[in-house]
Amino acid sequence: MTLPLRHSTTMTEFDILIVGAGFAGSVCARQLADAGKRVMVIDRRDHIGGNAHDKVDEHGVLIHPYGPHIFHTNSKKVFEYLSRFTHWRFYEHRVLAQVGAQLLPIPINRTTINQLYGLSLNGDEVRAYLDGVRQPRDPIRTSEDVVLNSVGPDLCEKFFRGYTKKQWGLDLSELSAGVAARIPTRDNDDDRYFSDSFQFMPAEGYTRMFERMLDHPGITVRTGCDFRDVRAQFGGAHLIYTGPIDAFFDHCYGPLPYRSLRFDHTHLGDVAQFQPVGTVNYPNDHDYTRITEFKHLTGEPHTGTSIVREYPQAEGDPYYPIPRPENEALYKRYEALAEQQRGVSFVGRLAQYRYYNMDQIVAAALTAAQDLLEVRA
Ligand code: FAD
Ligand code: UDP
Repeated sequence: MTLPLRHSTTMTEFDILIVGAGFAGSVCARQLADAGKRVMVIDRRDHIGGNAHDKVDEHGVLIHPYGPHIFHTNSKKVFEYLSRFTHWRFYEHRVLAQVGAQLLPIPINRTTINQLYGLSLNGDEVRAYLDGVRQPRDPIRTSEDVVLNSVGPDLCEKFFRGYTKKQWGLDLSELSAGVAARIPTRDNDDDRYFSDSFQFMPAEGYTRMFERMLDHPGITVRTGCDFRDVRAQFGGAHLIYTGPIDAFFDHCYGPLPYRSLRFDHTHLGDVAQFQPVGTVNYPNDHDYTRITEFKHLTGEPHTGTSIVREYPQAEGDPYYPIPRPENEALYKRYEALAEQQRGVSFVGRLAQYRYYNMDQIVAAALTAAQDLLEVRA
């Protein structure tokens, strides 16, 4: 499942150097190569796909080494673009949260409220119930405002405050509204984690999709190659940088905060199914936030099962930008430097310091490639 590497001696034979072989870098590479550009993609990891990389573990189960990646989008354009490189498996993600002894649907819906409180409310009654417990906030600035405004203090404590503290090392009140706003509240029985119109997994996995995307005569891929080691060699090639923006500028304004994770992967050889749904969240118990069982996502048959626990931590690979005003202000200073750079485009979750999902990165990369082609036409 690895790409043949086409080696070259210098960077000068390329029009574009792309740092990072994740969604941002790979989509840009393909768009530019399709337009006739000669593109070099490097990644310091030993594989393509960035954080969406998947691989078969030693027990023969397709897993996501960097945590569960479920594709969902409302963008027909993004879905159709990726469909050039993969078939899809229909999959709607479902998540349960362990609260006390109960496993309850999250996002909070009618079932959650009824099971948690031993009620049998209909949809109108759930709306009335939430109206009775919510604490209206105006303006809504923080994630605490979002949660209290929609579900009130008890549900906030049971489902959100502890999870958020673990995940970010911060209180809900210290995070921008957009973080908790990712999770809707429902008065019906819809127990899907996402409500997007396209919800699918790449049928043969993400890495296979990336292989097809990068398989183009105009694209050369070199993994295990850090930009810092080749920076001086790339001559006049335009640069597309998808790594952390503060690292690009040698942290000259100080490090941008990121949240990291430790992934604890386990294979259970004699367990056919570990848990009832793809992910179980643990808002109040354990040091990990959630357990994901990959079989649910991939539909693969296997006599055993592989799961991953996610332990949030401050140190380690940067996985999440941390959305809060002071971080946004620091990012803006780096962004101003980026705007002064000639011949460099910054694209991607770490380069743009945005809590973007995969589909948003694809959209950003399509736009960036198009802009570059127009400027350099
Ligand atoms: P990345 O995938 O991070 O790729 C950047 C690449 O650049 C990396 O491979 C890195 O090695 C490389 N790089 C950085 N610096 C250098 C350097 N100096 N030299 C060479 N290479 C370098 N999104 C969803 O839509 N659905 C999900 O279910 C979902 N789940 C997620 C779960 C977790 C735990 C995490 C962390 C993210 C999740 N995401 C999900 C978000 C998704 O991972 C990102 O939106 C997407 O992968 C970002 O793509 P990217 O190309 O911007 O960055
Ligand atoms: N969240 C929570 N409890 C949950 C699920 C989510 O408090 O059971 C909050 C938490 O702050 C989390 C954010 O909502 O970081 C976004 O959740 P999501 O599942 O979208 O996070 P991701 O999959 O990106 O880690």
